[in-house]
Amino acid sequence: MVACASAQAAPAKKGVAHAPAAAPAPDAAPKGPPKLIVAIAVDQYSADLFAEYREHYTGGLARLLKGAVFPSGFQSHAATETCPGHSTILTGVHPARTGIIANTWYDLNQTRPDKRVYCAENEADPASSPFKPVVSTGHLKVPTLGEWVKKQWPDSRNVAVSVKDRAVAMMGGHDVDAAYWLVGDGFTSYRGRDLSPVVVSANERLKALLAKGAPAFAVPAWCVARDRAVQAGALTVGTGRFPIEPGTTSPDLLRTNPRADAATLEVAAGLLSEMKLGKGAAPDVLSVSLSANDYIGHGFGTEGLEMCIQQQQLDAKLGEFFAKLDASGVDYAVVLTADHGGIDMPERLREQGVPEAARAEVSLNGATLGRAIAEELGIAQLLPACTPGDDVVGNVVCSDGLGGDYWISPALTAAMRAKVSARLVDKLKAHPQVEAVFTREQIEATAYPIGHPQDWSQLQKIRASYDPVRSGDVYAVLKRAVVAVPTPKAGSRTVTTHGSIWDYDRRVPILFWRRGVAGLEQPQPVETVDIAPTLAALIGLQVPQGSFDGRCLDIDGGVGNSCQ
Ligand SMILES: [Zn+2]
Repeated sequence: MVACASAQAAPAKKGVAHAPAAAPAPDAAPKGPPKLIVAIAVDQYSADLFAEYREHYTGGLARLLKGAVFPSGFQSHAATETCPGHSTILTGVHPARTGIIANTWYDLNQTRPDKRVYCAENEADPASSPFKPVVSTGHLKVPTLGEWVKKQWPDSRNVAVSVKDRAVAMMGGHDVDAAYWLVGDGFTSYRGRDLSPVVVSANERLKALLAKGAPAFAVPAWCVARDRAVQAGALTVGTGRFPIEPGTTSPDLLRTNPRADAATLEVAAGLLSEMKLGKGAAPDVLSVSLSANDYIGHGFGTEGLEMCIQQQQLDAKLGEFFAKLDASGVDYAVVLTADHGGIDMPERLREQGVPEAARAEVSLNGATLGRAIAEELGIAQLLPACTPGDDVVGNVVCSDGLGGDYWISPALTAAMRAKVSARLVDKLKAHPQVEAVFTREQIEATAYPIGHPQDWSQLQKIRASYDPVRSGDVYAVLKRAVVAVPTPKAGSRTVTTHGSIWDYDRRVPILFWRRGVAGLEQPQPVETVDIAPTLAALIGLQVPQGSFDGRCLDIDGGVGNSCQ
C-alpha cells in the first residue's frame, strides 16, 4: 500500500488510488455518529484563562480552537465548586437536580462526630470521613451520559479518570466500567475493584518519578513577563517552575504540578488501547478531568509564572493525547470545558487594577457567628460541634468556610431556629464584605431558572444549586473580588479560591471538536448543561423528555446541523 503524502492523512482505503490533486481528505466529513466521546474537564479553567492564553496554544488546545468554540460557557449556578461543576457536565442538569450542591455540606442530624458530608463519599460507611472518603456516587441523583449510553447500548463502555475522586464520580456516574483517581502516589479505584495492568504500570512510573525527581520546566518566552514574586501572607508565589526533589516524601505535591495532568492523560490513553475504546459496535464514553490547573490556581494564583507554565504544559500534553487518539484510528468527538472558573489572589489583583480585591474575614465563619448569636439569645444547651475539635458550646450555626451556605442546628426548637436565622441574616447583612443575604424561604420561592445564564439574578443562581435537604438555611453572597481564603500562614498551600456567584467563577470555555466537522465561534452564552444534549444528538442517544436542563448546540459550523 502506498503511503499518503500528507502527514495527517487518514489510512488510505484498500484499492483506492489517490487522485494527484486531491489528497485523501484527512478532514473529510465523517460518516455516521462518532464511536467514542472524549469528555475533558480542565479544573478551574476559567473563560478568562482561555481568553488570556488562547493565542499561545500550539498543541491540543490549538486543535480544539479549530472546532466549535463557545468562549462564554456558563456553570450557571452559584455553588461554583468542583463537585457541583463536574456534576453538570455529563448529566445535562443543574446541581439542584444532580443533588451535588457543594463539595462539602452539613448533615447536622448524622451520628458521626464530623457533621460534614463530602459530595463523593458514603458517609454511612464507618470507614469514611470527609477528608478520607470511602468514594461513592450515592449522592448523585441523576444518570450521566455514559450511563444513558450504556442503557441504550449495553455493550458500550463508560470510563472516567482524574486525579480527583469527585471528578471521576460525577463524570462517570454510578454505572462505570473503569474509574481511576489518585490517592497519594498511585491511581486507585472503587473498593473491591482490581487495577488494570496499564494503571499498575502508570503507578510504577509515578513512584519512579517521585524517587528520581524531575527538573524545573523551561519558561516559554510568552511567560517571561509573569515571572515576578508576589507576597501573599507568609507565602511568596509567582516564580514557581515545578521541579520535583529526588526522593520526595510528599506525593501530594505531585498534584500541584503539571505532571499530574500528564499522568492522568497517560492512564486515559492506556485505557483507550487496553479496552479498545471506540472499536466496538456501540459508542463508548471516556471522561478525563485534569486537576493540576485547579491545584496550581489555588496554590499560586491564576496570573503568575506557575499558571503560564501550566497552560503551556496542558496544551502540549493534550496535543500528545489527541495524537494517540488519532493513531488509534477511532472516529472520536471531543468536548473540553471546566467545572468552574477562578480568580487571582487579592494581593496581585490589587497591584493589577482591582483595588477592591480583599480576603474574606474569618469573622464570617458560621461557628464564630453562631457562638455570638447563642450568647445574645442565651442559648446554653450543648450542641454537636460542626467539626470535631470545635468548642461544643453554642454551635448553633455551621458553615463550610466563609460565605455561601450557613446551616442552623436542627436540635433547636423551631421558634429558636427562626430567631437564630433572623440574627444571622442581620449580622451577615451588616458585614462590610457581604453583598446580599438570602433565606431558605426566599430561595424556595424562586422558580427553577431558565434563559440566558448571564441575565440570572443572584437568587436564580442560588436556586440552581439548591437542594431542600442538603443546602443551608441562609446564603450569604460575598462582594465581588472578596476571596474566601484568609491570609495564608506558613505551610498553607492556598492563596485563592473559587465558589462565588460572580461570573469569573461561573464562566468557562466549551469547546467541541471532531475531525472533518467545520468549526465555528459563538460568543453568545451557552451552558455546561448543554453539553450532554449536544453529545446525545451527535450519537443518536434517546433520553426521555425533560431529562436535560440544557439544549442541543449545533456544533457543525458548515451547512450540517449536528442536532438533527
Ligand atoms: Zn474544581
